[in-house]
Amino acid sequence: MSFNFKTTYTALPPTFFREVSENRVKESQIILWNKRLAEELDVEDEYANTALFAGAQPRDYITQAYAGHQFGNFTMLGDGRAMLIGEHVHQNKRVDVQLKGSGRTPYSRGGDGRAGIGPMVREYIISEAMNGLRIPTTRSLAVTTTGLPVYREEVQQGAVLTRIAASHLRVGTFQYARHMVDEHAVRELADYAMARHYASLEKGDYIGFFRAVMRRQAQLIAQWQLVGFVHGVMNTDNMTISGETIDYGPCAFLDVFHADQFFSSIDQQGRYRYSQQPAIGGWNLTRFAETLLPLINDNEEVAIAALEEVLMTYPQVFGDAWLAGMRDKLGLATARMEDRNLAEQLLSWMEANQADFTETFRALSEGKAITGLAEWQKQWEKRLEIEGTTVEAAQQCMRCVNPAIIARNYYVEAAIQDAEAGNMDAVEMLVEALQNPYEVKETHQHFRTPPTMQNPYVTYCG
Ligand code: AMP
Ligand code: MG
Ligand code: MG
Repeated sequence: MSFNFKTTYTALPPTFFREVSENRVKESQIILWNKRLAEELDVEDEYANTALFAGAQPRDYITQAYAGHQFGNFTMLGDGRAMLIGEHVHQNKRVDVQLKGSGRTPYSRGGDGRAGIGPMVREYIISEAMNGLRIPTTRSLAVTTTGLPVYREEVQQGAVLTRIAASHLRVGTFQYARHMVDEHAVRELADYAMARHYASLEKGDYIGFFRAVMRRQAQLIAQWQLVGFVHGVMNTDNMTISGETIDYGPCAFLDVFHADQFFSSIDQQGRYRYSQQPAIGGWNLTRFAETLLPLINDNEEVAIAALEEVLMTYPQVFGDAWLAGMRDKLGLATARMEDRNLAEQLLSWMEANQADFTETFRALSEGKAITGLAEWQKQWEKRLEIEGTTVEAAQQCMRCVNPAIIARNYYVEAAIQDAEAGNMDAVEMLVEALQNPYEVKETHQHFRTPPTMQNPYVTYCG
């Protein structure tokens, strides 16, 4: 079938969106179509060329309003280059179908509303890689070229990404409601978000809502840390209420482990470096908590105290999620006091020895010798003895959680270059490998090799 659009967002007060009547994708040609996702969504291939728009009511073509803290500075934003074409409902699940790079909107400010083929292919690859790693994320259904040029440092072919998301509600959407509209808008938005993403909560339980969002974000960021993912632009408008990773701009995976690594050309201070991500998550959640104050109690001090009580648990919730994930990575089924230390020692060793993050964990899982790690390995094997399991049994579990293949910068860039030249084979092959990163097919082996890159790797927003 085609999309089954049943859009609910437009029932929110009109301040939350603006209608856009036309589709500004003129000579659309689909260059990437995600068959697997299409099957999951019940959208058939033969609709690929028409389905992007079929079934949407003109009223459903909307752009969403939001604000946000960008690198710490609060500002009005909104969908400057995206539009929602509808909420697709299938098997009791509801997802947003959004076109990113589809032209100017009322929120475009000085921007052209467009996107280049390179950054859209990049988002396609990395979002599918995250999904392969079982990390909550928006998905990519298609990349379509538009036939229009896009002017950046150099001229690029214009492209549109069809993005699928649980929703596009952001911390920044709440900031918009609270700081640019009014209390009534915050309540409408919170009730809508709770019904859509936290349906088991009682209506009006805004503390419970905050706690639930906090937990999902803590879990999410812990998962990023556990695979060496650096988001790169953790502004509050890029933090979802659903708990999905969103906005693949200047993100990248670590090769060699450096806790202070960052890649983004616009992150001059390294605000969003790997080691900072958990703390930035806490900072963003504090901004989110501020938006909910009027819903909690008329007495602001009481409201602050109630939200602070929850917020104070964030480091612990994050820490527990991280440690649980580390135990899995090290093949430990039970919890012991010394586990955190064991994990941290391994990370310190990696950092001191320029070891590759992904390959180190995978080598441990495959029983490969690692030069210079013998002492730590002895400790680890002793720890496994307490478990009562053999190293081999532990390693079998470890191979299910430590990926062999991640979206390594080198291969991502090479695939994008081919895509820009009109050849999608490398992208298709890489994405296929990334969709199942734990079992390595012979033909995918080469993606494991971390090649030395000539220059420091720098990422851009596109
Ligand atoms: P981001 O840093 O990707 O989260 O984007 C921040 C804001 O800039 C969002 O409101 C985007 O919609 C907007 N934006 C990014 N690129 C463009 C563009 N080419 N034209 C118009 N708005 C844009
Ligand atoms: Mg964004
Ligand atoms: Mg972006």
